[in-house]
Amino acid sequence: MKKRIITVIALSLLLCISLASCKRNENDEKVDKVENKTSEANHSDNDTSQLITETQHKSDFALNTIINITLFEAPKFGEEDWQQTMDVLRNVESTMSAHTATSLVSEINNNAGIKPVQVSDDLYEVIKMAKNIAEETNGAFDPTVGALTKLWQIGTDEEHVPSPEEIDNGLSKVDYKKIILDDAKKTVFLEEEGMSIDLGGIAKGYSADKSFDYLSNKGVKKAILDFGGNISLIGSKDEENSWRVGIRKPDRNTAELIVYAAVSGKDESVVSSGDYERFFEEDGKFYHHIISPYTGYPTDNEIRGASVILPSSMQADAYATALMVMGKEKAIAFIEDKGLETCLIFDDMSSYSTFDEKRKFEILE
Ligand code: AMP
Ligand code: MG
Repeated sequence: MKKRIITVIALSLLLCISLASCKRNENDEKVDKVENKTSEANHSDNDTSQLITETQHKSDFALNTIINITLFEAPKFGEEDWQQTMDVLRNVESTMSAHTATSLVSEINNNAGIKPVQVSDDLYEVIKMAKNIAEETNGAFDPTVGALTKLWQIGTDEEHVPSPEEIDNGLSKVDYKKIILDDAKKTVFLEEEGMSIDLGGIAKGYSADKSFDYLSNKGVKKAILDFGGNISLIGSKDEENSWRVGIRKPDRNTAELIVYAAVSGKDESVVSSGDYERFFEEDGKFYHHIISPYTGYPTDNEIRGASVILPSSMQADAYATALMVMGKEKAIAFIEDKGLETCLIFDDMSSYSTFDEKRKFEILE
């Protein structure tokens, strides 16, 4: 019997939260709250040279998650400005979703084993970065995991445990080395029929970076972009203080968002992955959305959550997913080798972190 588990906040699955979307608990005071007061003007004749410090906020649904953008020092945003801001995200979504039949990613997948497909600069950049990180992580992060994720279909009404034969067949189609890139022509070719790219572990980070750049170019000086698991911070809270970001406690058993730890950051992105973001239960066993490209099954090791801080949300996104797959020992060796700023939370709720003093990392739970 399959039982859908209620995910933590309806559709998105924040693990790392600015308090923008955090359910209140006793640790709320320790991290920055994002006021819910909104001041969305209904006109677009904004004077972009004038910055206001009144909180402006937009909440929407895109990239399969709840998007919360809060501006703290910015030009006055009208309806049209918000529209354009959301268009940046929607463009990434319509290009990079493997679930939309008309996306460029679907075109690449439909032409696997047949022919190279010319893609946009954006998509080329993301696939190239995804392949590089696959190489670096020895395939723990692998964008060709699509051959497996399309079997599991986690997060959809069709989610189920595939048969061992299906898993074996899917596994034989996962290999980032068979993504053939042509820098001059900007083409992507999947060498074998049946291969499939899934950018779910990196595209949200890319869209957070695009939004960060877009808003910065519009003159936004201070903002928190909360894309469910990817928190990008524009500027800092004030001259003395960075933003405080809450890292969520990885707890599948409660719908409440509990802040596990707080960490400081500015002009960078705090990205978290966790095994409780999307999952279902079948015959008493949990199956979540991060699939090991080595076994074909959801990762099953002691790491429950991984957070990474980097200027690039895209890179942090891919690394956080990769660390989940690696397991404790390999993840720690990788973190130390790369000098990554990160926090891993284990199943006994102990943690390992490499944040230095200026991050003021504090375990709250
Ligand atoms: P994240 O929430 O960033 O950790 O990404 C999880 C999503 O990335 C999943 O929903 C899949 O779309 C995709 N994914 C799952 N496993 C992997 C993997 N091993 N490597 C790359 N992407 C993955
Ligand atoms: Mg990721």
